Amino acid sequence: LSNPEISGEQSVKIVLLGDSGVGKSSLALRFVTNEFRPYSESTIGASFMSKSITVPFSPSVRNDEGQGTSDSKTLESRQHQRTIGLKIWDTAGQEKYRSLAPMYYRGAEAAILVYDITVPASFVALQDWALELQHNASPELMLVICGNKSDLGECRRVDRGVGEAYAREMGAVYVETSAKDGQGVEDMFSGVAMRIPPLLG
Ligand code: GDP
Ligand code: MG
Repeated sequence: LSNPEISGEQSVKIVLLGDSGVGKSSLALRFVTNEFRPYSESTIGASFMSKSITVPFSPSVRNDEGQGTSDSKTLESRQHQRTIGLKIWDTAGQEKYRSLAPMYYRGAEAAILVYDITVPASFVALQDWALELQHNASPELMLVICGNKSDLGECRRVDRGVGEAYAREMGAVYVETSAKDGQGVEDMFSGVAMRIPPLLG
């Protein structure tokens, strides 16, 4: 039962935004199929991939069954897991597709704004996306700022601290990833899933 509609599992919509070439499609591909393609074709319009993952309830989420707050109850609720279907919308970064973006971020639970740590202009473009979301998206939208291509550390041109400070300012989560070697990719998507409030009842 991998179809969320049939199994009744919770599903979340995630949108990937950011300049062309920063690695949005590669991140989705790495997460869903564990592959990397050095010469990937650029995305046209948008593409969709999905994957179900099982994550623990985050420690801050109280399990309703246990009224007691003893340490053992807390530990028990931490061990409970839930399966979440991640529906990942990978958008095209080109300017001509920009007007389509609201279709993808409206109704999304999370937006992952990706830049390339070796390309400062992609970090500037990311800030435009963040402002657009701030003005037009739901205030509930979870923002993740993702510095991709961490495997190219020697060519880094955006300091990690700069990315982190911006994320803090925007109330966003900050992560660094490499779609090439897989570093941080699973953690980024499972981190999103863990922050989604569980359906109670
Ligand atoms: P998109 O336009 O944002 O979807 O970017 P793509 O996923 O198409 O990636 C653009 C180029 O960067 C491709 O040649 C990828 O192979 C490469 N790329 C993507 N992610 C990484 C990464 O983490 N490290 C390295 N070294 N290259 C990457
Ligand atoms: Mg793409």
